[in-house]
Amino acid sequence: SRQPVEQRVHSICPYCGVGCQLEYQVSNDRIIAVDGRSGPSNEGRLCVKGRFGFDYINHADRLRVPLVRREDAPPKGAPFDPAERDRYFREASWEEALERACEGLVRLKHQHGASALAGLGSAKGSNEEAYLFQKLVRTGFGSNNVDHCTRLCHASSVAALLEGIGSGAVTASFMQVVNAEVAIVIGCNPESNHPVAANLFKQAARNGTQLVVIDSRGHSLREHASHLLQLTPGSDVALLNAMLHVIIRESLYDHRFVAERLEGFDALQAHLDDYSPEAMAPLCGIDAERIREVARLFARAERAMIFWGMGISQHTHGTDNVRCLIALALLCGQVGRPGTGLHPLRGQNNVQGASDAGLIPMMLPDYQRVDNAEARARFEQLWQSPLAAQPGLTVVEMIDAIHHDQIRGMYIMGENPAMSDPDLNHSRQALARLEHLVVQDLFITETAAYADVILPASAWPEKSGTVTNTNRQVQLGRPAVSLPGQCRQDWWIIQAIAQGMGLDWAYPGPEAIYREMQQAMPSLTHIDRERLERENSVTYPCPTPDGEGTDVLFADRFPTASGKARLVAATLLPPDETCDSQYPLILSTGRLLEHWHTGAMTRRSRVLDTLEPGAIVCAHPLTLREWKLQAGEAVRVESRRGAMKALLRADEAVPPGSLFIPFCFAEGAANLLTNPKLDPFGKIPEFKYCAVRLAPT
Ligand code: SF4
Repeated sequence: SRQPVEQRVHSICPYCGVGCQLEYQVSNDRIIAVDGRSGPSNEGRLCVKGRFGFDYINHADRLRVPLVRREDAPPKGAPFDPAERDRYFREASWEEALERACEGLVRLKHQHGASALAGLGSAKGSNEEAYLFQKLVRTGFGSNNVDHCTRLCHASSVAALLEGIGSGAVTASFMQVVNAEVAIVIGCNPESNHPVAANLFKQAARNGTQLVVIDSRGHSLREHASHLLQLTPGSDVALLNAMLHVIIRESLYDHRFVAERLEGFDALQAHLDDYSPEAMAPLCGIDAERIREVARLFARAERAMIFWGMGISQHTHGTDNVRCLIALALLCGQVGRPGTGLHPLRGQNNVQGASDAGLIPMMLPDYQRVDNAEARARFEQLWQSPLAAQPGLTVVEMIDAIHHDQIRGMYIMGENPAMSDPDLNHSRQALARLEHLVVQDLFITETAAYADVILPASAWPEKSGTVTNTNRQVQLGRPAVSLPGQCRQDWWIIQAIAQGMGLDWAYPGPEAIYREMQQAMPSLTHIDRERLERENSVTYPCPTPDGEGTDVLFADRFPTASGKARLVAATLLPPDETCDSQYPLILSTGRLLEHWHTGAMTRRSRVLDTLEPGAIVCAHPLTLREWKLQAGEAVRVESRRGAMKALLRADEAVPPGSLFIPFCFAEGAANLLTNPKLDPFGKIPEFKYCAVRLAPT
């Protein structure tokens, strides 16, 4: 029977960008259950991850003391067996571990210059930790070589949004879907990745919102869709340009909005001449009349929204895909009113906040460009430190820079590039090549296995801090249980590294860090910690100290120099790697409902791991028949870059001729196969398309 609840602590779910508010029920300093609270984005609901994904914090694998690599350890990159941890690492005091961590970073900076170091922070941590981490890299390492997992999920969306409307965040919360007549849900699977938002989409559909579901991989929202367009993988620009062509040719666009609030209409109109539905139908696999029907539906709606996910963003033409979606909404005047808007469903619970806080290589906090002298001068004044003007390297560029001996030392907090990066053989060789690697995490992750120093970090239920969800809602997480063993707060560890590198930081705690963030970031004006303590959630921007934040943005003007938004034409480009007789199948990677990203937390949560215990490859039954394979059979999947093994699962949602592999399973790592080629604007890899083949094991 369940122990009596001694304490109830209000916090936020640590997984997806929905940012559900929850209650930790605590007994004897352990979380025994989690329940939903009535937050603005979840109204009491939680999905299976939020409800059951908490016991990883007590897992036997949890790091409880600092570790340093043994002098006689097997070489980096040799297979790491956690059961033989002591062959690779030995326990150390905090003093020794920090001294060793800082000595290596300082030495490499001294020998090779500031650009020889880089840092990867995390969207799993708080805003305060993200802010502090990027400040350390910029003022301590001396470069802008700092990034995090936004580069692997929505960097192309942010690039296109900043270019088009001057702001990288959503224009309206997903709760506005209930006010929309039409909602396009494209390239995303919210039932797995944003389950509580998916519930709201279904509720809206029941109440009359027409859901237009566009995806190459069918998913269960299809049962609630008024229109389902299962397009050919990688053909988004063809389909979306054809819709834009119809809207302009049939004069269905919002003439007043175009005249008063947009730039670039004439160029877009001329560009779209060649993109008739008849010309694009063979490319995208959608009948021309169907394209016309959906384009007219969207354009004639009084209020319409567009939601998208990584099926749109994770392509070498991801920025182009998003440019098309922006053009669609803008042409039809579907921004700035209730029930309208552009909403990239952000992945990680704090990917919005970490990006806002400056955990990206080209932007200081609040998207102030590092190469803007005025912005830099403001931060130099605030931080009392000179700052580099050169934008830093992005996640995948850092890996290449290690191979070219440009980066020699790294500090990685809470990220797992040995699982999350494309072309893992290449990435893992880079991690092994580093002269000095400091990892701060909860477990010896696949990345930590390459470390010289491992610093035991704090889990979300053990810390105080703010996070910002996909709706721009800044929310407060509170500590529910004590840190185990010798684990320390992440902000404390970042500060200790900063001090070890000669910086005179003396933050007493996250509250003081947040106060400094408010000085640096106008977006946090009127969102004090005291207010968050009382209200738990405030949307930014918030124009008054007591009033509500702004749920729907850009009613009058866009935050661009002219106040107008910009239409940008997108050209048809094929995926970087296409199929051939050797590699005839298309691979797309993604997440499962039960597991989060590289699985470090959810695979150590008992209920979630029981539900989805091992690596799988999903294929349509027709594909299995064609390849003479059976569901449940072990198979080997090969690409030009690597191979992995997993069990076959029949899945009618995966189009024939394609495979879908979740990237959370280390024993069958999907990213051994994926293509590292980048979108030239957002620098995001093409996780949603590469060529593979199947073979029996
Ligand atoms: Fe957590 Fe997202 Fe599930 Fe909500 S929908 S409980 S935020 S994983």
